[in-house]
Amino acid sequence: RIVSAAAGTPQEEALERALRPKLLGEYIGQTRAREQLEIFIGAARKRREALDHVLLFGPPGLGKTTLSHIVAAELGVNLRQTSGPVLEKPKDLAAILTSLEKNDVLFIDEIHRLSPVVEEILYPALEDYQIDIMIGEGPAARSIKLDLQPFTLVGATTRAGMLTNPLRDRFGIIARLEFYTPEELSRIVTRSAGLLGAPIDAEGAMELARRSRGTPRIANRLLRRVRDYAEVKGDGCIVKTVADRALTMLDVDPVGFDLMDRKFLEAVVHRFDGGPVGLENVAAAIGEDAGTIEDVIEPYLIQQGYLQRTPRGRVATLAAWRHLGVTPPQRAGL
Ligand code: ATP
Repeated sequence: RIVSAAAGTPQEEALERALRPKLLGEYIGQTRAREQLEIFIGAARKRREALDHVLLFGPPGLGKTTLSHIVAAELGVNLRQTSGPVLEKPKDLAAILTSLEKNDVLFIDEIHRLSPVVEEILYPALEDYQIDIMIGEGPAARSIKLDLQPFTLVGATTRAGMLTNPLRDRFGIIARLEFYTPEELSRIVTRSAGLLGAPIDAEGAMELARRSRGTPRIANRLLRRVRDYAEVKGDGCIVKTVADRALTMLDVDPVGFDLMDRKFLEAVVHRFDGGPVGLENVAAAIGEDAGTIEDVIEPYLIQQGYLQRTPRGRVATLAAWRHLGVTPPQRAGL
């Protein structure tokens, strides 16, 4: 899926790394999160202390990993990166924690997927920079306390609601990442095009920005495809008409929806009369996983006002009916 916000092939990931802003000053948008971090990082650096633990949450591809690298770079410390599902056993996490140097940053992606036994050893580590580990087996087993260097945990999740309360309570800084505005995305696209050496004008950048679902990862991916198109079908410069033609060819419509978004909206509108319909029912109707719909497809549709989540189920708004070119029924609530 070209507009998938999930990370792509290894090749694409290498390119992403190259396009990643390295310092807060280069990080475009997310003003609230950026300002918060700027102040707390400045204070921690002045006091030569570890920064408070940071929780970053929001839909995929908005820059959580990028921001965690920036936090470490701004603090002038090392970054260790892992993820919830990778840490299967307490000893996996213990090995990382004991290897951290003073004030280092530990980034745990998908932190909502930590297993309960691993999460358990994280609590004292976060609170007192200590871990309890079991030595030996059977009746001879005993627990010993190990002191750790002070460190900062940066946890990232697409689902803040799935974090346990004790874990959530241990984060001093909680930042929610929002979808980017077209203006912000157009600055990101222009910056990336510059790094890739791809000529682009302001209108071309804006066309790409408007069709990138508020997500830098998608914007960068579409930029690469549109650049190829511009080189083969045009003179290499990404102008509005070229961007429009290339994106239409890729089935990315004028508001950035792809086949999957339209399939989802069409199911709600045509099969369920616009809703309210339960998530599981739409998921079954289009053969898609409910979790993927909830994490990846819905947030942008909701933010853009095409869909509502109500206690009785999902409801397509007037904008959704119009977008599909269908006359909405005359009824209350629409
Ligand atoms: P995931 O949820 O998959 O972990 P993520 O939220 O961690 O995704 P990143 O990998 O940090 O997303 O960002 C994806 C790409 O978007 C990066 O290559 C980076 O170049 C770009 N990007 C993200 N945020 C910004 C930004 N604020 N300014 C410029 N580029 C950005």
